[in-house]
Amino acid sequence: MKETKITLSEKEMPTRWYNIMADMPNLPKPPLHPGTKQPVGPEDLSAIFPMALIEQEVSQERWIDIPEEVLEIYSLWRPSPLYRAHRLEKALGTPAKIYYKYEGVSPTGSHKPNTSIPQAYYNKQAGIKRIATETGAGQWGSSMALAGNLFGLDVTVYMVKVSYDQKPYRRITMETWGASVHASPSELTQAGKKALEADPNNPGSLGLAISEAVEDAATKDETNYSLGSVLNHVCLHQTVIGLEAQKQMEMVGDYPDIIIGCCGGGSNLAGIGFPYIRDKISGKDVRVIAVEPSSCPTLTKGEFRYDFGDVAGLTPFLMMYTLGHDFIPPGIHAGGLRYHADAPLVCQLYHDGLIEAKAYHQTGVFEAALQFARTEAIIPAPETAHAIRGVIDEALLCKEEGKEKTILFNLSGHGYLDLQAYADYMDGKLSDYEYPEEKIKDALSKLPTF
Ligand SMILES: *Cc1c(COP(=O)(O)O)cnc(C)c1O
Repeated sequence: MKETKITLSEKEMPTRWYNIMADMPNLPKPPLHPGTKQPVGPEDLSAIFPMALIEQEVSQERWIDIPEEVLEIYSLWRPSPLYRAHRLEKALGTPAKIYYKYEGVSPTGSHKPNTSIPQAYYNKQAGIKRIATETGAGQWGSSMALAGNLFGLDVTVYMVKVSYDQKPYRRITMETWGASVHASPSELTQAGKKALEADPNNPGSLGLAISEAVEDAATKDETNYSLGSVLNHVCLHQTVIGLEAQKQMEMVGDYPDIIIGCCGGGSNLAGIGFPYIRDKISGKDVRVIAVEPSSCPTLTKGEFRYDFGDVAGLTPFLMMYTLGHDFIPPGIHAGGLRYHADAPLVCQLYHDGLIEAKAYHQTGVFEAALQFARTEAIIPAPETAHAIRGVIDEALLCKEEGKEKTILFNLSGHGYLDLQAYADYMDGKLSDYEYPEEKIKDALSKLPTF
């Protein structure tokens, strides 16, 4: 029998996260205070984050221990399986070997609990009682709801209004785990009220929901804020994915030539990719490719400069590839990839040529998703399907060139709560949005200069 599923035992689970800041040729420029434009200090961040996470945010220690309580919860679904995509390879007629790490086995169906669990743990340790956060399509909100529930923290989620109306199942998931969910913009914050005054039918955006959650956390006692991507500590927590994958690839005696992940804020790409970029920095020949939507082409078309993480300008300035913080991308189905910027760590590595990037339109992405579902059986999340488009194209290139490369990708989540997107694709209702050049130019032109 051909080996298809490569599993590790619970005992082989990584016990430390890998911090790429110990090895990067150039560290990202520091976050700057939105008022003074000076580097932010720990005290600036302590209004909304616990000190343990602030320390991880700036740490240059290569290995950081995963707390015992976090390991225990991880073990509910970790180590996650690695699969060899024999059937997809055969369907493509490619000499390439394709492997995928399946993060859809978590209780919320994506990689996001890898960071929501430690974030809830460190907040609980710091005596925090309540977490305010945002969610787009609901993946992050449900992961935080789960984590809050497990550690006894109240969780309030500001959910982008269009998703709140269109995607009831993730809202119900969050409520099942005990979270309170509000459509954003809401009347509960100044940022929300202001947006509603300007337009009572405001459909909301991720950047606006972040403004609401940050304001909530900054103005209420015993409440902290929590972010599901972008920040250094989030990328750090996600490295369990790549560390496990390295052991699993070793078990079958393979090493990837190409690693592919979809990129919304950059955290799942960081998770699978950073441990391998460590090898690359020390001379190994491995390519890491970020795949993003053509309608929100942050790395491929954005500018590398300081920008806010949210619409209202409450967060520090972060050094990122950005399309402008008030750019609102078209309503593609991959809600998790509709963010105007990317993680500073991913951006710096891209800038230094250690990560490559590609952008695809959504119809080609769904074509790939269907081909995957019909060969490998798992129905991928629309976000993940971007990575799969990239994988299939690389595998077809191998076929053309007669090269037997090894490709590894991160199957960041399943799509069982995103079936409307599949219905729309199969009904021929999905269209490709042109690259919104004018809107991006406009949003970039409004950014402050330094
Ligand atoms: C949130 C999400 C993403 C995008 O976020 P990253 O930080 O770029 O990983 C990708 N895939 C799934 C399944 C998600 O839920």
